[in-house]
Amino acid sequence: MKSIWKSEVELPKRPALPGNLKVQNVVIGAGMAGILTAWFLQRKGQEVIVVEADRIAGGQTGNTTAKITSQHGLFYDRMIRLVGRKQARLYAEANEHAIHLFEKIIKAENISCQFEKKPAFLYTVSEDGIEKLRKEMEAARSLGIDAVWIDGNRMSMASADEKVRQIKELPFAIKAEVCFPNQAQFHPLEFIAHLAKELVVYEHTKVLSVKKNMVYTDKGQIEADHIIFATHYPITNVPGFYFLRQHQERSYVLALADQEQLSGMYYGIDKGGLSLRSAGDFLLLGGGGHRTGKCKCKQKKNELFGYSFLREQAKLYYPDADIACEWSAQDCMPHDDIPFIGKYSVFRKNWYVATGFKKWGMTSSMIAAQIISNHICQTTEVEKNIFSPQRILFLAGIKNFLIDVWESVAGLVKGLFAPKERRCRHMGCMLDWNPEESTWECSCHGTGYYEDGRLKDNPAQMNLK
Ligand SMILES: Cc1cc2nc3c(=O)[nH]c(=O)nc-3n(C[C@H](O)[C@H](O)[C@H](O)COP(=O)(O)OP(=O)(O)OC[C@H]3O[C@@H](n4cnc5c(N)ncnc54)[C@H](O)[C@@H]3O)c2cc1C
Repeated sequence: MKSIWKSEVELPKRPALPGNLKVQNVVIGAGMAGILTAWFLQRKGQEVIVVEADRIAGGQTGNTTAKITSQHGLFYDRMIRLVGRKQARLYAEANEHAIHLFEKIIKAENISCQFEKKPAFLYTVSEDGIEKLRKEMEAARSLGIDAVWIDGNRMSMASADEKVRQIKELPFAIKAEVCFPNQAQFHPLEFIAHLAKELVVYEHTKVLSVKKNMVYTDKGQIEADHIIFATHYPITNVPGFYFLRQHQERSYVLALADQEQLSGMYYGIDKGGLSLRSAGDFLLLGGGGHRTGKCKCKQKKNELFGYSFLREQAKLYYPDADIACEWSAQDCMPHDDIPFIGKYSVFRKNWYVATGFKKWGMTSSMIAAQIISNHICQTTEVEKNIFSPQRILFLAGIKNFLIDVWESVAGLVKGLFAPKERRCRHMGCMLDWNPEESTWECSCHGTGYYEDGRLKDNPAQMNLK
């Protein structure tokens, strides 16, 4: 089913690449990262085109929940322990600055995209979660984020009247919350539609391969000084080796109709925690996620996941609500939780990448757009930042790296014995059936295919045989 964003906004169609071209910059992928990067480059006086295999925002960006926030789950406490306070502060500052930039652009360009400043709340419903939340708040505060502690009955924040209103806001008992003030939410497609107006975008133009400064598409070839891979998952395995550095996770969203507006955005830190935000009269309920291609594990444990999980939660907490629509998306999860933004590889001086947004791709896309456009325009040194893909894997990532190696080896071995039509076109791993989506998914790197074998999500680029 279409997301509410896609149902509400029909973007004007763009032509396919008309033939061979030579340009200064080509951006591959017209999601949030690609469109923002192209927009910044053009603003800085660069010649730029965007090539998109499908439609603008037809990928994960069309299926996001579009919170613009520096609050990325239970994150900062762990990050400080693993990479140090200085690096964690750079991450926090970059994300806070990205929120500010969204606001600045939206005001300056007068973009009507339902942009609203709202607080973001991390919440826990368990006793165990209280201590974790407290540590997260202290960590965030130590990095300059003005995080506020709120106990179970919100006494520390609300006046008497407000307290009644806010207690009613979520229909389940909360033990504690941490609030990040001055965060935001918006309509991602209204925003993208506006920025894309000024850009040259070729839709239905699929990049088949990239060699040095040549981009080969199914509609012609492009010679470019700079090539930016904003394809969500990098489409070229070598060099870069991003398939060894991240996996994908899928999450699901329900839009409940005719609900009261929430005063904030919410994210539960406990197992089965929900993500909530309002969008007009809709309440968006997110969760039920899993590693892409690993539904069988959930089924074996008799655990509800995906839409079934969310429908159950909706029935419990919003029994009278109508489900207006439901959809899902997936994102790349780097081993050390830090996106890869910068040079694609030391062996390709003019290739750039933006990936690994770990389900926080709004601020990450803005950061990517700045870092990459600044570097191309030679105003900053791209490698001197925490997001550099050339960083040495932080200790944080070693456990995840080993899990991924295990998953990949297992998937590849199973793939050797699987029938051809059950083998992923990326590297040959065996595919797993996702009954919630009626799709085939790869647990190694997260490619997805529709039931009839058509490609749904990359990194693979071809339909099933
Ligand atoms: C359920 C869910 C909820 C989320 N909610 C939030 C949120 O509230 N806040 C937040 O910050 N983040 C959120 N995220 C994350 C965020 O949505 C993503 O990180 C972000 O949209 C990724 O943008 P992108 O431009 O990198 O990728 P995409 O939007 O997927 O764009 C990549 C584009 O590249 C194109 N492409 C791929 N291969 C080729 C090729 N060979 N040739 C040409 N084009 C190609 C694709 O068609 C696609 O259009 C969420 C993620 C999920 C899964």
